[in-house]
Amino acid sequence: MNIGPYSFEEFKARAKEFHGYPAPGLILGGYMVAMAQKALPEGTLFEALVETKKCLPDAVQLLTLCSAGNNWMKVINLGRYAVSLYDKYSGVGYRVHLDMEAIEKFSEIRSWLLKDKPKREQDTDKLFRQLEEAGDSILRMNPVKVDESLLGHSHMGPVAACPECGEAYPVADGDICLGCLGNAPFALLSPDGRPSEPVEKKASIRVSRLDHLVLTVRSLDKTLDFYRTIGMREIRFGEGRTALAFGKQKINLQEEDSPRTPSAAEARAGSADLCFVVKTPLPDVMALLKEAGIALLLGPVERTGATGKIVSIYLRDPDGNLVELSNTVP
Ligand SMILES: [Zn+2]
Repeated sequence: MNIGPYSFEEFKARAKEFHGYPAPGLILGGYMVAMAQKALPEGTLFEALVETKKCLPDAVQLLTLCSAGNNWMKVINLGRYAVSLYDKYSGVGYRVHLDMEAIEKFSEIRSWLLKDKPKREQDTDKLFRQLEEAGDSILRMNPVKVDESLLGHSHMGPVAACPECGEAYPVADGDICLGCLGNAPFALLSPDGRPSEPVEKKASIRVSRLDHLVLTVRSLDKTLDFYRTIGMREIRFGEGRTALAFGKQKINLQEEDSPRTPSAAEARAGSADLCFVVKTPLPDVMALLKEAGIALLLGPVERTGATGKIVSIYLRDPDGNLVELSNTVP
């Protein structure tokens, strides 16, 4: 089966030229991109969202004008082999992912994908034959609407010289650049080849973000019920531990009568005061709370959040913790 405007062999040759070798993932990616592209109405100005860093971004670049460099392709590593192409103004488009059930019919694709045999035992010719035979029959496509935050050109905001390294960086990253915060995966070498000390070590301790906090509760079940209602997910981790997840953060839970070691000197239920920024407009949040029978304590009122003005409502969780739900004010 053809891959976009190319025959299978042509695309394989282009993939080799572009990528160094004709990676099977790139071929598969070619089918995925071509499928989404075909589904979009002709003439749509589209952008791409890729959910893995492996191979698939190259397939997007081979078949479309989208690249990471022109920012028409966003790579957000969710670890899934999936790509969406969407109208750059409305965010509406198509997401293509692998159909694991359909892949069952293609033994070599399956074992390559699941890495269930060593690379040298892989029958590459057979793999390519199966990829060509399978075409887009092993793909599934769904309509999607991409988040507003990804639409249009990302405005980087103000840029300034980093006070530590002196290089230009986006001010939104913090008071020094991400490299100087210790995120650079390299060390600069002095002329005699010795690694220069990371700036971070010379500076004082710099805190970049909150990773998680621990909430002490009387009843896990009641807590989970409440926080699920306000949009959090329950996750399990470690040995039988439970946490509430949302966005990129989580709150670990521990029960008051069986606190973890170590834990806070006074691990008490009901003494926390938490504020969450929510995307859902507050009037909708309030309607949902009313429906769930959760009483409003106060609000909406204007407050000062960590990064600017917010509008908040207040409620209590089952332990009496104060919970503030806020919308940012643009
Ligand atoms: Zn810097």
